[in-house]
Amino acid sequence: MPNGNNAPEPIRTLRDWLDHLARHDRLAVIRPNAALRFEIAAIAKRLDGQKATFFPNPGGHKIPVISGLVSNRQWIADAMGVEPSDVLAKFQDAALNPLPWQEVKDAPVQEVVEREVDLNAQLPIPTHNEFDNGAYITAGLMIARNPRTGVQNVSIHRCQISGPNRIGVLLLPRHTHMFYEMAEKNGEPLRVAIVIGVDPLTLLASQAIAPIDFDELTIAGALHGRPLRVVKCLTSDVCVPADAEIVVEGRLLPELREMEGPFGEFPQYYGEPAPRHVIEVDAITRRKDAMFHTINGGGLEHLLLGGIPREATLLGHLRRSFPNVLDVHLARGGVCRYHLYVQIKKRQEGEAKNIMMGAFAGHYDVKHVIVVDEDVNIHDPAEVEWAVATRFQADRDLVIIPESQGSKLDPSTRQGVGAKMGMDATKPLTAAEMVFKRIRVPGEESVDLAKAVDADKDWRSLMAQ
Ligand code: MN
Repeated sequence: MPNGNNAPEPIRTLRDWLDHLARHDRLAVIRPNAALRFEIAAIAKRLDGQKATFFPNPGGHKIPVISGLVSNRQWIADAMGVEPSDVLAKFQDAALNPLPWQEVKDAPVQEVVEREVDLNAQLPIPTHNEFDNGAYITAGLMIARNPRTGVQNVSIHRCQISGPNRIGVLLLPRHTHMFYEMAEKNGEPLRVAIVIGVDPLTLLASQAIAPIDFDELTIAGALHGRPLRVVKCLTSDVCVPADAEIVVEGRLLPELREMEGPFGEFPQYYGEPAPRHVIEVDAITRRKDAMFHTINGGGLEHLLLGGIPREATLLGHLRRSFPNVLDVHLARGGVCRYHLYVQIKKRQEGEAKNIMMGAFAGHYDVKHVIVVDEDVNIHDPAEVEWAVATRFQADRDLVIIPESQGSKLDPSTRQGVGAKMGMDATKPLTAAEMVFKRIRVPGEESVDLAKAVDADKDWRSLMAQ
């Protein structure tokens, strides 16, 4: 929220964000004509976490490709206009105080309209991984309306290009899938829009773990501090961000499944091929000077966009029962989904185990939970490992829950059924003070290295003669 002080404003458009990245030397402009098959993904991946990428004339297309828009927690904080430590609080605040969107008539995203659709000819759609089944739209916000209530849902699904106007799509059993089942029961298609190229906060809002009939675009508005401008699609009543780059309008067809996959997913493995849902495309609308956003499966952009909204949800969920939970982090090594670190101010022996159970119940993807004290930095995996090494005993502090629901994309599970593990790496409340006292050198933090280091001298000249 703008507060009248000098707090930085949130970033509200994709073009402002690219300017911001360029100003901070975080945007790499790549030479023209990078190949859509593998080369774009390869270059973007090499720069993952360091620089976003802009590819002019990819594979000879007029529309540039962009990637890696938010591959660092600090960048997300910058887009929100807050410090990294306030990212979760800001996201929670937006989810608690959503802003309804504002419908407009004239939208940049409808400057160009294609009704004769040929996806691969009209859009520069990359192929990412070695064994992916061809080109995929990976950064498309799929928007659909609940057929009963009319409330919209936003989510990202991998979209395989199966033909000139045909898309194969993976719908996990969440909100879009429920809308689809309602439509299918009546023998009807579900109208959808796939929105490509939005600002980073709208991207982040699309990944909120919100209840059904909670329109994620209203979280985007709250993050922006002003209502999001939307426009009605040309072939349906679905409303899409008016300032987006590209919209693919279509229908999820009832009673039809076609092969989709394999595709490189966030756990760094391929999602297996199977008969899945099918979209028939009716129109593409776009800006005159549109850009096409692509996300590398399993890259930092993919992991962080999924991880931060989940952290915000899990933190809120845990704090309802345990107000002494200080912070949570979904670690990168656990693909920002499976490994949850929880930092607490311990008040009671045993409560770390209750907190683990709360975390497992908070999201089925959470597989391993490590609970640590407030003196451990949960954003540094080496600190968490140190706490496990020195404060954890397996016979006393380990919890295993067999045969529970996990992530279907975790290949070590049996179709998503597997074990949970919790580790209590907090120190006992009763320990004598010095036993767990962390060593510290007085003055270390305040050393002025510029003053302390003599860069002009070599050591031999300073030896006693
Ligand atoms: Mn939803």
